[in-house]
Amino acid sequence: MSLDGIYDPDNIFAKILRGEIPNVTVYEDDHILSFMDAFPQSRGHTLVVPKAASRNLLDTKPDDLAYVIRKTQIIAKAVKQALQPDGITITQFNGAPAGQTVFHLHFHIIPRYVSENLAGHSQGQMADMTELSKIAAEISANL
Ligand code: AMP
Repeated sequence: MSLDGIYDPDNIFAKILRGEIPNVTVYEDDHILSFMDAFPQSRGHTLVVPKAASRNLLDTKPDDLAYVIRKTQIIAKAVKQALQPDGITITQFNGAPAGQTVFHLHFHIIPRYVSENLAGHSQGQMADMTELSKIAAEISANL
């Protein structure tokens, strides 16, 4: 999947947005859905996904991009309040050669803890759903 191409409405995040695949929701409004990464790189790895269809940052409408990045900041602050990490990495990949694996725009909020190693991007273990739900509730409580 290169940078250019047609948006695939059957990508996994489109299915999550349509409710066809379950997710552990942190926050939702008319324009974005934020949910826990199912293969987290660290405890509290959260995704922020605009509802408008675009493949990556380059083909996203500026207003949609502005909205999702503003919400990413707000949710990152809630992650900080809830989990008290030592740092937070925000990532976003464009095109498979850059590391993108799901071709619907999204931002990663990855809490960092000095005593813990980070799992590789898209190489984390599938998380326990009960544990993810507890973390999501802690983050939501700070929004
Ligand atoms: P990227 O490689 O930047 O496109 O990120 C895609 C992210 O989606 C990875 O961190 C995956 O762990 C995550 N992911 C894949 N499938 C799911 C799913 N069903 N629910 C939640 N996160 C997912």
